[in-house]
Amino acid sequence: MSECAHLRIGKEFLASVSWPSSFRRKDHDRCYCHRCYPANLADTLTVAGYTYVIPRGWTRFAVAVDESFFNHHNVWDTWLNCYHGTSIDSAKSCVEHRQLLLPDDVTMHGKKIGIREDHIPEERFVFTTPSISYAALDCYAYTHSFRSPYDLKLYSIKVVLQCKQKADSIIVQPETVCATKQGRRLCPHIPNEELEWKTKHRSSVMIYGLLLEIKQNHASDDSNSPQYQKLNISVPPASNVVAPEPSITEEITNTIPKSESLPLPSSYRKPMSKTRIALLVVLIISTFLPMAALTIGQIYKSECPIQPWIPRWVTVFGSVGLSASCLMFVILFINFKWHPEKEIGKYVSGCILCLLLFFFLAWLIAGSVWIFSVKPKIQFVQTNATNYCQETLYKFAFGLTLAQYSLIGVLMCCGGIVALIGCLC
Ligand SMILES: [Zn+2]
Ligand SMILES: [Zn+2]
Repeated sequence: MSECAHLRIGKEFLASVSWPSSFRRKDHDRCYCHRCYPANLADTLTVAGYTYVIPRGWTRFAVAVDESFFNHHNVWDTWLNCYHGTSIDSAKSCVEHRQLLLPDDVTMHGKKIGIREDHIPEERFVFTTPSISYAALDCYAYTHSFRSPYDLKLYSIKVVLQCKQKADSIIVQPETVCATKQGRRLCPHIPNEELEWKTKHRSSVMIYGLLLEIKQNHASDDSNSPQYQKLNISVPPASNVVAPEPSITEEITNTIPKSESLPLPSSYRKPMSKTRIALLVVLIISTFLPMAALTIGQIYKSECPIQPWIPRWVTVFGSVGLSASCLMFVILFINFKWHPEKEIGKYVSGCILCLLLFFFLAWLIAGSVWIFSVKPKIQFVQTNATNYCQETLYKFAFGLTLAQYSLIGVLMCCGGIVALIGCLC
């Protein structure tokens, strides 16, 4: 018996965000991926006269409910099923508060709930929807990127809360993302006019599950890409409506034996990925070359009368190279320590890398002029003559320029610049 990979990755993700284990109900977990919930099963279910959409492609990590509350109000049988798209941090806060708070409410940590910027001001309601595709829209559900510590692959994960809601508490209204104006139908099962539910009754919404939509990130190993889940369904011919299938990214098909997929202890640290190890090796090597350049440039700084800029060129190359390596070490370290979601470190390192590339290119051109122009008349013997240059210094500088040109050649040949930037981002 093997466990679906979606469940395994979801558990790893929850461990990485310290999801409160006291609220977990592992026996009620359920996966709705195409393997666990076959195509022939129902797409929608109707409870108390309201239809809701089965969360195909999503995986539920059940949240423990208050049994006495559920029994007293007969919640399982009479309340409606709905979804609330959010981020993992907000979801955690909702579960810890045991409810979705209304704007202007104050959390138990004393923080006032604001209205999200992209939401309509003056609307102090809790919003839910019977449609999983509506809840999963980017303006509601945040896309988290997560690297699995087990297989080191990068996944995009969306978060939606699965709730039960008291039927007479809701006000049904149309979608509020202007899809109807643009002629788009957002959900293949529920019309745009009935997509949004709102209520002011705080305790009429009960969370019973955290739904995660887990997709492996194939395109590039970094994107936090918001273009997933862009539904583009035209309004009238309802028969042509296509379900929001994850056609952009492939479904995850690998499965891991149950014994290996135990939830990770909270002290678990993510191992370094192969690209990061390779980068570290490159950085270590690239520290020695500038060190040598700095040393040689300093030792022979006044022993090249034919072109005094040669030792200076070598020295500057060494010091800039060395500080660049140190900086990259720091950035790599920060990137490694931080959660992979925090993209800022990558942007900063990308910018610095671009600047450095430009600098080294310009510096290489300047150096080539100084070094190659004196080649025909240089001699390494008479130290007093004006055309003298210290042999080691000159040959080192000469070799360094040649090495850089060949590096550029190699990088251009294999499109390596792209790969190099790709490694960091
Ligand atoms: Zn599954
Ligand atoms: Zn999310």
